[in-house]
Amino acid sequence: MTKQQLQIDCNFPGGNIVVEDIAGATVHLHQDLRDTRQDWFYWCFRVRGAAGRTVQFVFTKSRALGVRGPAVSRDQGSTWQWLGAAAVQDNAFSYAFTEQDEDLRFSFGMPYQASHWRCFADSLQATPHFALQPLCATTKGRAVEYAVLGCLQHVPAYRVALACRHHCCEMMASYALEGLIAWVVQDADAGAAWLRDNVQFLCVPFADLDGVEDGDQGKGRHPRDHGRDYAGVSIHAATAALRALLPAWSAGRLRVAIDLHCPWLAGEHNEALYLVGAEDPRAARAQRHFSAILEAVQTGPLHFSAADYLPFGCAWNTNTNTTGGQGFARWARTLPGIDLGTALEIPYANARGAEVNQISARQFGRDLAAAIAVYLKETKEDQHSP
Ligand SMILES: [Zn+2]
Repeated sequence: MTKQQLQIDCNFPGGNIVVEDIAGATVHLHQDLRDTRQDWFYWCFRVRGAAGRTVQFVFTKSRALGVRGPAVSRDQGSTWQWLGAAAVQDNAFSYAFTEQDEDLRFSFGMPYQASHWRCFADSLQATPHFALQPLCATTKGRAVEYAVLGCLQHVPAYRVALACRHHCCEMMASYALEGLIAWVVQDADAGAAWLRDNVQFLCVPFADLDGVEDGDQGKGRHPRDHGRDYAGVSIHAATAALRALLPAWSAGRLRVAIDLHCPWLAGEHNEALYLVGAEDPRAARAQRHFSAILEAVQTGPLHFSAADYLPFGCAWNTNTNTTGGQGFARWARTLPGIDLGTALEIPYANARGAEVNQISARQFGRDLAAAIAVYLKETKEDQHSP
């Protein structure tokens, strides 16, 4: 029997790869940077015609693999598993395709596309605590939406805003957002019930929907990425729309705004969950306080430690990081009534030694929601104390 021809492509939502050459069972390739003007590591490709063969994929440019190697999907990108560090050789990995492995996808992370969100949102439509609203259309004509959830039946005591995928490649954050939303909307826990009665959430699942679906890096996008588009006049439709929507929706009741991100691939500050320290001391105190609550209430497999807080002025978190514009969290901290405005980093693969994956990241989202409930309840008690 003649072997099938090896086919590698990225012609699907989230796909990203440049194949240089295929020589026998060795493939040379690299991530497609597109309009990102620095090295970045997002890639996601499909392999067909490799059944029964062992193939090595060699990345020829910048680092493309994290601490648990690549992830593989055997169901067209719906679910993903890490291959593990044993599959990695320097900036390459090998995979032994079984006879059944006729259509596999690989990525440096576990891509979360609009189809994942659609499936998740559809599962919540029957509840009275979740609704979708249109935000805007992207330059490519895609409809961007946001979800409102929690207390929708009457005017809430507080409002909370959550944003995700300002950097479109940072997909692990999306699973945390799912976990948070599911807990708020339908969990039997007393904290979740309290949120449904007192707090309305506004969640933007894809701040850069075009980038998510087209498989862009997004980070460092030229001339300005979505995560820096909250200064001056916004150049992206979704950020402009959110800047108009949030103050109006808040009506002075916005207390918490969290922008979910993922850090770099590996190493210090990239293998732990943490809040990105604000420059303003009052805002930083609120972040420290919330970090302590989150550490105390968590029950999931990803351990959040308040000690991993990254103060302003440390590592990458300096003014140099914001020369290209202002991020969502820093902008949100200027809104009337806000207590906590922060970016939260969720690592791609490893959180203090625990495996980050689709399931554990969702469980962290539940912990995050529980911490928000405690944080807001404390605020409420403070207001009622003499
Ligand atoms: Zn980011």
